[in-house]
Amino acid sequence: MANLGEQWTKVLKILEEKIPSESYNAWVLPLVPSELSDGKITLLSPHGFTALTLKKSYGDVISRALSDVFCEQLNFEILQDEKLAELYEKEQKKNKKTERLQAENQFKESKYDGLKQMLSDCHLNTKYKFENFVVGGANKFAYGASKGIAEGKSLGNPLFIYGGSGLGKTHLLHAIGYFAMTKRNKKVKYVTAEEFLNDLLEHLYLGGEKETFKKGAEKNKKMIKFRQKYRDIDFLLIDDIQFIAGKERTEEEMFNTFNTLYSAGKQIVITSDKPPAEIDHLSDRLKTRFEGGLLVDIGIPDLETRMAIIKQLVDSDGAIQLSLEVIEFLARVYKNNIRELEKGFNNVSAYCSIFGEEPTIDVVKKAINYQEVQKQITSDVIISEVAKFYGLKSEDLKGLSRVGKIANARKVAVYIIRELTGNSWQSIGDSLGGRKYTTMMVLHKGVEEDKRIDKKLCDEINTLFNIINQL
Ligand code: ADP
Ligand code: MG
Repeated sequence: MANLGEQWTKVLKILEEKIPSESYNAWVLPLVPSELSDGKITLLSPHGFTALTLKKSYGDVISRALSDVFCEQLNFEILQDEKLAELYEKEQKKNKKTERLQAENQFKESKYDGLKQMLSDCHLNTKYKFENFVVGGANKFAYGASKGIAEGKSLGNPLFIYGGSGLGKTHLLHAIGYFAMTKRNKKVKYVTAEEFLNDLLEHLYLGGEKETFKKGAEKNKKMIKFRQKYRDIDFLLIDDIQFIAGKERTEEEMFNTFNTLYSAGKQIVITSDKPPAEIDHLSDRLKTRFEGGLLVDIGIPDLETRMAIIKQLVDSDGAIQLSLEVIEFLARVYKNNIRELEKGFNNVSAYCSIFGEEPTIDVVKKAINYQEVQKQITSDVIISEVAKFYGLKSEDLKGLSRVGKIANARKVAVYIIRELTGNSWQSIGDSLGGRKYTTMMVLHKGVEEDKRIDKKLCDEINTLFNIINQL
């Protein structure tokens, strides 16, 4: 059986999804499990009033998460712990100091007053700069093109950067903006495609009511304002363009914005998870425009680059030292996604500071919940594999149909998700189109029983386990 810390990490994972992030960060995250006995788990908190706050608002949610993970009905009590309170205070002070230092550095860097305000008007995140982007084989082309464009070289318009999630596209976009603005005094605007869409809707409809279109003069005035916002600039940086694919009105406005900027010689930079040709439902005219610029892809950084990124995280964290062995271990665990790698590192740093432990490989394994991470199999992956196996689509399993073939595949998916991920019943229900957690329990139990007497079902499930484990 997994130790208490590991079990608690699983509970946290469930609670993170169920409790609004502000409350979760303030009350739940600082809890440390101390004892499990007689059907009761004792949790320590740095604050005196956590028990009251949590029991009142989230008592049921916590009880459910505990029973999902520990597979028994557990009571819980929350006690204030002085040592934890001290540590917490220290941590808070350290954070405040880091924030102050960052603010001072930012101030020193600013060439003119009001830079901060301007950065926020442009929606730029100063965390992301060229200086802290680690360059390696897989991203050097994207980095070089971004830097060149930021410096004003005519390399292509738009610059279109594409690649998988967590590989640094957004980072580069902000870095371009920051550079162009601070070093070349250019007018910059960063926007995600989703924000662009929402902004457009707000200007098109009255008071957010989709039925009531703004009429005549008022609408024109609003639209002129909207257009000015996106056209009166030197650099337009659009993140995750795939989001607007198939949304015709937004695509049209984007097309017009693009043409205006393009013909005025302004630079546009776009990111996406796929190259233009592969974005489903994107209109041909936008595809053609995007392909007319410079297309660069950003790939998964190799081991050395991932290690260099971790070293950089260690330096900027300032509170933790990692041996080369541990750095390499982390870099090998997180192969595909730098965002995940950063999260893993943050977990290690927090774990070592809360428990006062040295970051050995064993400690790191606990801190990142190694077994879970190793699996890295999500409900969605399982649903997709099960659907494929039965000649169906993921949407069929998430949909309402109760046709025999679909219902059968759905219950197999429930069974495999629970066995391989240990996710809570509710989260399994959510991943299958928002079904009730009780239904999930019933389906799981059904498969468990059927598979003892139904050889075909049993074989199918074993084959699926093999397929999924080899992914
Ligand atoms: P994407 O937009 O491609 O999904 P992000 O730009 O949001 O990815 O990157 C995820 C996280 O990983 C960010 O915190 C970013 O700073 C970091 N990151 C990604 N690539 C690098 C890199 N080459 N050097 C340093 N940090 C990186
Ligand atoms: Mg991004």
